[in-house]
Amino acid sequence: MDLIYTTIEQIGYLFYIVDPRKHIYHRVEDVPDYVSQVIPYFSCFMALEQIVAAVRGYKLARITDSFTSIAAGILMEQSKIVMRSLLIVFYIFVHQNFALCSLNGDVTSWLIALVALDFTYYWFHRASHEVNFLWAIHQTHHSSEDYNLSTASRQSILQVYFHAFWFIPMALFFPAPMFLVHLQLNVLYQFWLHTELIPSLGPIEWVFNTPSVHRVHHGRNRYCIDKNYAGFLTIWDRMFGTFESEKDPIVYGLVHPINTFDAWTVQNSGFIDIWNRLKTSKGLVHSLSIIFKGPGWDVGKPRLGDPNDIPEVNYKTATKYDPKHSIFMNLYFVLHIGAILVFHMNMVQTATIDNPLTYLFLGYLTFSIVCVSKLMNGKDWSKQELARCLIFFALESTFNANFMDKLSIQVGIPDLGRLIFFLSTLYWTTKLVKINDGFGKRCKVN
Ligand SMILES: [Zn+2]
Ligand SMILES: [Zn+2]
Repeated sequence: MDLIYTTIEQIGYLFYIVDPRKHIYHRVEDVPDYVSQVIPYFSCFMALEQIVAAVRGYKLARITDSFTSIAAGILMEQSKIVMRSLLIVFYIFVHQNFALCSLNGDVTSWLIALVALDFTYYWFHRASHEVNFLWAIHQTHHSSEDYNLSTASRQSILQVYFHAFWFIPMALFFPAPMFLVHLQLNVLYQFWLHTELIPSLGPIEWVFNTPSVHRVHHGRNRYCIDKNYAGFLTIWDRMFGTFESEKDPIVYGLVHPINTFDAWTVQNSGFIDIWNRLKTSKGLVHSLSIIFKGPGWDVGKPRLGDPNDIPEVNYKTATKYDPKHSIFMNLYFVLHIGAILVFHMNMVQTATIDNPLTYLFLGYLTFSIVCVSKLMNGKDWSKQELARCLIFFALESTFNANFMDKLSIQVGIPDLGRLIFFLSTLYWTTKLVKINDGFGKRCKVN
């Protein structure tokens, strides 16, 4: 009975349905890590979404696109292990030294904090679309050309740091535990918005953000650009003139698609774009305009660019970046994505900022994500992938026995993990031998 109650309660976190009285904390260390508590439900809901899509005859999520999104989410969560405590220290410092008041301890202040954080989120999100260097961070979230629950996890590594600074005004009124509760619940609420399966919810959208409202936000059709910045409440979009209802079928992704599944390019393509524009800048004012005006701005154009510059797109004719892979490679991706996910969850539960192994395994996890993403991009990454498989065995044999209880390198059921990596090592070795053999023969003929 307790398990059922806990499950319902935790699923409620994904919809901001909680009993405020149970979520008022006075110490930061007492605030639950809601995100890691609901990670198992993410997978269940993603699977359920695909089952419903299959039953209804909709297109299924692509492994490549979904992995790119999940990988970005993993990298963001991992970066939090290292940085979260430092950012909270900063928030606490501001609250302790500059707070105008400290609203805490009752349901009314809990609700005021909910609205205040959501209002601050609206402006943070809007600035992330209207200021180019913030867009360089946020464009990661918009780079998926698919729209499904996995898209929610596609976040920039840097997002969390700018979040923390932007939300500092909250510290003038609310203590860190209150802030942490609402920041997590607000972000979690946005998970279910990323689906095409739920139609418009009518009057609910007058107040609350819904999948239909957020689909418009992810569109690259002209009518969708710079609309619907809501986190939890849509009232801000209605008040400040940025609300738009879903009309024509939506084409998802960036106005200028980045056409890649490469984990690092997804993270930094916005900065590369700014850098390339700065190289041809015509002076300081021009440079500052490139950095601080909208991503669509150019000389002689309005601050947010000219809407006519946005290419018209059509749902029926738009094409997606989609390198094809064999059934074998798709199976390979699925197995290694599973391994990466288990490895990640293991890290989230056991890694600490003061354990040197955290950084070693973080490096390995990042390398793993990069390798798989390069393969998905169609790159010949055989040598690196073989090296990654061999490093797995090196790490496992070195650390598994001693650090099983602290920070282990388990990959699911240990033997299954070993089997996956053993067969993968065999595959890449054979492939590389064949390539070299072929190269040798060609040399002899020549
Ligand atoms: Zn956005
Ligand atoms: Zn989104």
